[in-house]
Amino acid sequence: MIQPPDTTIPHVVQPNFHVGFDSITKQIEKRLLKRGFQFNIMVVGQSGLGKTTLVNSLFASHLAATSGRVNPEEKLISTPKIKVVSHTIEENGVHLKINIIDTPGYGDQINNEGCWDPIHKYIKEQHVLYLRQELNAQRKPHISDTRVHCVLFFIQPNGHGLKPIDITVLKKLSEIANVVPVIAKSDSMTIAEREAFKIILQKEFAYHQLCLYPNNLEDYDEEEHHVNARIRQIIPFAIVGSEKLISVDGKQIRGRKTRCGIIDIEDEAHCEFLHLRNFLISTRLQDLIETTALIHYEKFRFSRLIALKENSSSKSGSNTNGSSTASQNQKQHRQLFTAGAAPMVSSINNGT
Ligand code: GDP
Ligand code: MG
Repeated sequence: MIQPPDTTIPHVVQPNFHVGFDSITKQIEKRLLKRGFQFNIMVVGQSGLGKTTLVNSLFASHLAATSGRVNPEEKLISTPKIKVVSHTIEENGVHLKINIIDTPGYGDQINNEGCWDPIHKYIKEQHVLYLRQELNAQRKPHISDTRVHCVLFFIQPNGHGLKPIDITVLKKLSEIANVVPVIAKSDSMTIAEREAFKIILQKEFAYHQLCLYPNNLEDYDEEEHHVNARIRQIIPFAIVGSEKLISVDGKQIRGRKTRCGIIDIEDEAHCEFLHLRNFLISTRLQDLIETTALIHYEKFRFSRLIALKENSSSKSGSNTNGSSTASQNQKQHRQLFTAGAAPMVSSINNGT
């Protein structure tokens, strides 16, 4: 019988001269830079809360069309259905492919029953697509990843708290994706009002046991736990978005003119846009991608594969003819991997 290799950790050996394997990090970096990076971000919230404007502000590029109006009388053009806009942005040789998933304003109707369904369904469908590619016998070397890495959830700056529909949607979405809540259009509040509102919201998140990003992973080190604890005190970020450049003392700033003066969205004294951008892009981009795979997708994958296994064993149990079971298995396999895989995909989807 073949013995498994001894995997006990040996003591560290120092080579007598430079061998060169310390360049492995450079080799990985070169390969990753060549391949580029993929980040899928979804924006959710009522129409007109500044979702599209914020995404454009975050990446300092006009990536998606806003419903920006010149006159207040003009009607808001809300995003009619889920729309995915893809762009590749480049910074110092690093290519980042961003998919922006702009969702229709939810909760805009009189009856909002199930209005979050298309959003929930979209996130799950991306998990199904990934699983199908992963299970394919002829896998591509790199599976295209459309899984939603981050959901930016926009809260209306009403000063009172979450609406019942917000709680429902936050609960549903945080079970399947990394959700980062933000207080939209925070220029409509004073700093004191904003802070008071933030405390109300943080209490509500705790009361409703909402499992928002960042999660506590076992393999985080002490520093990462510390950063996460600090971030949890700031969340939800009170943000202001703007794509407009305004001239102030001869300097161009990105901001908004309000009754109380000019808001520079990149000034920490004015709003928390910079905190959000640093958090999402400079420090947590990789973690958002990794936790989507390790927590949310893994949960989905586990439950669907178990369901699939139970489904096939209950079918084979009820079938006494061995040859017909084999042909049934072949049929199931064909169903999963061919274009007409609807029945099997729906069983992956529904866990039936
Ligand atoms: P969406 O429907 O949520 O995507 O909202 P849009 O991004 O299209 O913005 C709707 C309107 O709100 C536009 O006129 C924006 O210029 C404006 N807007 C966006 N962000 C802010 C903000 O932070 N503060 C204020 N006061 N207005 C904003
Ligand atoms: Mg929009």
